[in-house]
Amino acid sequence: MTENSTVDVLISGAGAAGLTLAIELARRGVSFRLIEKLNDPFRGSRGKGIQPRSQEVFEDLGILDRIVALGGIYPRQREYRDDGNFSESDAVVGGEPTPAEPYHLPLMVPQFLTEGVMRERLLELGHRPEFASELIGFEQDETGVTARLKGISGEETIRVRWLVGADGGRSFVRHALDIGFPGKTLGVRAIVADVILTGLDRDVWHRFGDGDMQRQVAICPLAGTDLFQIQGPIPLEGEVDLSAAGLTALVKERTGRDDIEVHSVSWASAFHMNARLADRYRLGRVFLVGDAAHTHPPTGGQGLNTSVQDAYNLGWKLAAAAAGAPDALLDSYEEERRPVAAAMLGLATNLLDALKRGEMRRGREVHQLDIGYPSSSFAVEKPERRGGLLAGDRAPDAPLRGVGGQTTRLFELFKGAHWTLLGYEVEQAAMPPRPGLHIHRIGRRGDVIDEGGHFHDAYGLASGDWVLVRPDGYVGAIIASAHAWALEAYLANVGLAA
Ligand SMILES: Cc1cc2nc3c(=O)[nH]c(=O)nc-3n(C[C@H](O)[C@H](O)[C@H](O)COP(=O)(O)OP(=O)(O)OC[C@H]3O[C@@H](n4cnc5c(N)ncnc54)[C@H](O)[C@@H]3O)c2cc1C
Repeated sequence: MTENSTVDVLISGAGAAGLTLAIELARRGVSFRLIEKLNDPFRGSRGKGIQPRSQEVFEDLGILDRIVALGGIYPRQREYRDDGNFSESDAVVGGEPTPAEPYHLPLMVPQFLTEGVMRERLLELGHRPEFASELIGFEQDETGVTARLKGISGEETIRVRWLVGADGGRSFVRHALDIGFPGKTLGVRAIVADVILTGLDRDVWHRFGDGDMQRQVAICPLAGTDLFQIQGPIPLEGEVDLSAAGLTALVKERTGRDDIEVHSVSWASAFHMNARLADRYRLGRVFLVGDAAHTHPPTGGQGLNTSVQDAYNLGWKLAAAAAGAPDALLDSYEEERRPVAAAMLGLATNLLDALKRGEMRRGREVHQLDIGYPSSSFAVEKPERRGGLLAGDRAPDAPLRGVGGQTTRLFELFKGAHWTLLGYEVEQAAMPPRPGLHIHRIGRRGDVIDEGGHFHDAYGLASGDWVLVRPDGYVGAIIASAHAWALEAYLANVGLAA
């Protein structure tokens, strides 16, 4: 057994949540280890819907374009009736992109491709997951966590300041902490299988037997691959044959067609749907993110997205705490993210009921653009605002022009690990500059010009107002010039004192 010196953070689990957290820490120079008990990367399609809010997060992480290049948009869905006729409709509902919301449609990207891009980004930043390394025990005290890992070459004990359980629905970390995971089993068991098949074209998402839980089967061409994903409910009990022959038989039985043949299966799973939420997201120096903190039915494509955004919320806070920010900032992770998961569990469960009735349509409510933290202790307004954009809301995008002449966007100004302070038509600086804070003045004497009025439309600020945008793209504070002193107090609480 070996014992290593202290690193800041141990992340247990290199799925979508663990990888996102690792990227967030890596780009802030925080020391960490990312361990994964599997010997190789997971290769299932599972969470294949990337919602518009996650696309914004991926833009900030520097991986959006690579992910779009690998995946695609959702095809239309074709619903077959028993007489063999069919009707087609949009599988996802979205409006046009707007200056404030540049991404408007969910993307389809199999989870193994998304995670591959994340690993590539992590490698660019000088890190990689440690495969075949399992967390098997830990103890925490006031100054840190001592964790035991089991790997190919034996056991190892490491000392870290914080441990994050990004270890999925059966989370070892959650069990070890004895954190309750109340909720319900939804009485639905389903299969999901990534297969090579013939007999169906790749232009549409084929849906058979909608509204009938005994006979439903959906067969979706997986963007960026030669695979189709088969999904369908199965009886609650009993063996299920997930071989190519077994799936061919299941498809034949449900579609009445013998021209659809499954030739090979690259990944398949049979699972019971649950909706569960951890009682706590933090216990001392240990945190839960992603499926470790919440599990839910796949309807609505929320799981991976919520998991990524958990990690995106926690990453910058851990980095700030490692640099000396007050501990209350870490408490705000649970305060902000647990209510989001609670709402998402209700949404996914309602969509499952709609699917049972054959009425599944995914609209704006699944895009996650309206998620915000207005009740957070870190959402401050001086004076209190009566409407429009509020502290805690997602900070909208807006096209702008730099006074140097080039076009830019607010999201370009936000991109990176820093906070952003925007002054609208301000006369003078609100505060001295400092590391980790970018200050821009928008308006006639500023460095950026709101040429099309899009910033004004989205933010609704009065002349002289300041808006402080967090590293994760949410509004931290909206402060009128007469209250500019409040900005200094706010920044001290997040570790950015002058
Ligand atoms: C069958 C199925 C279908 C799904 N379909 C969808 C969908 O259509 N849309 C959607 O959005 N979401 C879907 N999801 C959910 C989505 O896949 C998850 O929300 C997402 O994977 C969560 O990411 P995560 O990183 O939190 O957890 P995971 O992806 O589960 O990753 C956790 C990782 O931790 C590792 N680990 C566990 N214990 C240890 C340990 N002790 N030490 C080290 N490593 C450990 C595991 O090996 C795993 O790699 C589906 C999930 C399942 C199971």
